[in-house]
Amino acid sequence: MILPIYVYGHPILRRQAADVSLTDENLKTLIEDMYETMYHANGVGLAAPQIGKSLRLFVIDSAPYKEFYPNEDARKITFINPTITTRTGEEFPFNEGCLSLPEIHEDVMRQPAIDITYFDETLNQKTEHFEGVLARIIQHEYDHIEGMVFTDKLSSLKKMILKRKLSDIATGKTKPGYKIKNQ
Ligand SMILES: [Zn+2]
Repeated sequence: MILPIYVYGHPILRRQAADVSLTDENLKTLIEDMYETMYHANGVGLAAPQIGKSLRLFVIDSAPYKEFYPNEDARKITFINPTITTRTGEEFPFNEGCLSLPEIHEDVMRQPAIDITYFDETLNQKTEHFEGVLARIIQHEYDHIEGMVFTDKLSSLKKMILKRKLSDIATGKTKPGYKIKNQ
């Protein structure tokens, strides 16, 4: 089922998300709905708070980047109760967008490599090292479960320039090609 995407201004995006109960019988359906919602909106990642569930859960599929970064692995991964244990390397800028911030694309500084522990959709616990586009997408989604969005990481000048666009999103004036919820 395609779910509405909660956009900038909705308080759920500002909440520190809670752990997922691994015995929750609705978990499988929730994950399926999140993939369906993400693909429908042409996203490469979607976190549970973005569909109104304040849970430590996100899904990613880096396949659309394969065309531009042929040396990178295309991966579809479900992250349940993840913890980023290390972030390494020098921060660098990369242009990011977000389904909760339609029509905003900005360069965001992040480190290039991470180690993360998580449960996958079969509830196997894993620890993996990620670099490149995958490390970028994962850190972006991880911010969502910590109550952050990428514009938080921009300079105050950049934030000032984006003020109008952000308020248009928060007031429901910005209409992307998918269903949104702003309050
Ligand atoms: Zn996002």
